[in-house]
Amino acid sequence: MNAFNVETIRKDFPVLARTVNGKPLVYLDNAATTQKPQSVIDTITDYYSRYNANIHRGIHTLAEEATEAYEAVRSQTARFIHAPSERTIVFTRNATESINLFAWAWGRSRLRAGDEILLTEMEHHANLIPWQMLARATGAVLRFVPVTDDGRIELPRVEALLSPRVKLVAITMMSNVFGTLTPARAVVELAHKQGAIVLLDAAQAAAHMAIDVQALGCDALVFSAHKMLGPTGVGALYARQDLLEQMDPFLGGGEMILDVQLTSATWNEVPWKFEAGTPNIGGVIGFGAALSYLEKVGMDAIQAHEHKLTAYALEQFTHVPEATIHGPTQMIDRGGVVAFNLEGLHPHDLGTLLDGEGVAIRAGHHCAKPLMRRLGVPATARASFSLYNTMDEVDRLMEAIRGAQAFFKRQPVKR
Ligand code: PLP
Repeated sequence: MNAFNVETIRKDFPVLARTVNGKPLVYLDNAATTQKPQSVIDTITDYYSRYNANIHRGIHTLAEEATEAYEAVRSQTARFIHAPSERTIVFTRNATESINLFAWAWGRSRLRAGDEILLTEMEHHANLIPWQMLARATGAVLRFVPVTDDGRIELPRVEALLSPRVKLVAITMMSNVFGTLTPARAVVELAHKQGAIVLLDAAQAAAHMAIDVQALGCDALVFSAHKMLGPTGVGALYARQDLLEQMDPFLGGGEMILDVQLTSATWNEVPWKFEAGTPNIGGVIGFGAALSYLEKVGMDAIQAHEHKLTAYALEQFTHVPEATIHGPTQMIDRGGVVAFNLEGLHPHDLGTLLDGEGVAIRAGHHCAKPLMRRLGVPATARASFSLYNTMDEVDRLMEAIRGAQAFFKRQPVKR
């Protein structure tokens, strides 16, 4: 691996060269979606320019090339998360679909009234609503590990909630609001002792740290390509092969069958049993280029770079007395997401003023409404970092924040 050089990396991302409102873009909305390197854009263009064809069904050259490229990314994805086999990787549209797939295909025929599903108070709606729907359909009950005031979960609280009634634990690896890295490995161990299986939501974690599903010991794990330099419209579900084999299909249609009669059908082998219809072939192939890019830079180097950026940002915020940081203020078990509120300045107003300075952040509930209630705020501002962000960009963020504060002091808003 070459030494990490952020300036070299930035040149690979064409959008970073643009201006917004006359100012160089500072893109700090990476937890929502990341920008794409030229190699991903080129790989997708190359697929549509040279070998666009439907996969698996054709016997012509283009179909064979497309199938080979698509299936190669399945193997690459398995290697990326250290999965034991490419058979354990199901391609979906996004992390949300992966969780819905698992919830229905695993849960619908297994859960009984009174069974419990254990979540945390800081889950993204994607890792909450599907379980609410499953609970409604089966009579299962949702339980929640509380979050501490500094945005962490504590293992004794997890342990206290685990019992033989808990059949599944679904927990984020990295909070999209707090940036907290949860003790996923320890949670898996505790859950397995009680006979529960564990799904990890790696939608945020997968772009920022090395993931090893075998070391984690999890039973399922999900992520979205678009948050890890890949295109939108592609996600993945990893699940233990024996679980996938026992699970019912989620969607029915072409490709997921072995044989079909007028009134019945038998299912294809895993993972194809879960990929009904024509998938996002070009997107999956583009995702392969994103994984190659992440691998080339190195996940440990990316994590170390983002660690420095986040530590610097948190330090800078200590000079803003009006700021409340939500989540860990120390750089222990923490990734590059910083959610904050500024006294007297609504996050949406702040976001608009920052955009005027070319600084893109997010303002809102971050698809975590119950967590906003727990924090006692309707919304927060959120800056989130990626491998291509720089210390100078953190300075630009802080300058823009100071500018917004000065603007609001001059002109109190009438609502
Ligand atoms: N889980 C977490 C922690 C997230 O941050 C997100 C998206 O922000 C999701 C799940 C859902 O991802 P997607 O919208 O790509 O399905």
